Amino acid sequence: MPVDIERHSRVCGICQDPRREDIELEFTEWKPIAVIARERKLSQSALYRHFNATGLFGKRDRNLKAVLGRFIDRGYRVKVTAQSFIAEVRDFVVELLKDVKNALTAEPEAAKFELMA
Ligand SMILES: [Zn+2]
Repeated sequence: MPVDIERHSRVCGICQDPRREDIELEFTEWKPIAVIARERKLSQSALYRHFNATGLFGKRDRNLKAVLGRFIDRGYRVKVTAQSFIAEVRDFVVELLKDVKNALTAEPEAAKFELMA
């Protein structure tokens, strides 16, 4: 069921947040939701609902190539060992998997939230 964006923005704390633009930029630059939530003291499920309602998951996916390009470029510029590069990729994937897990567990809650609004 598509999200009613007007109704969403009336009840969404992220939509009303003065840091909204920065938060959305971080998300589309592939900063994991768990990290955004921790750094900005926001709820992960609120962030998930907001990104879902505003179609930002698609925007983030389309941005993946650019982000990976910068990541690889950094690997060339900074003298990294294979070990540290792998560790960084692993950390990135671990955070990404946390996002996926949270997205999957937040979905029923998001649906419930939409019904209640
Ligand atoms: Zn919102």
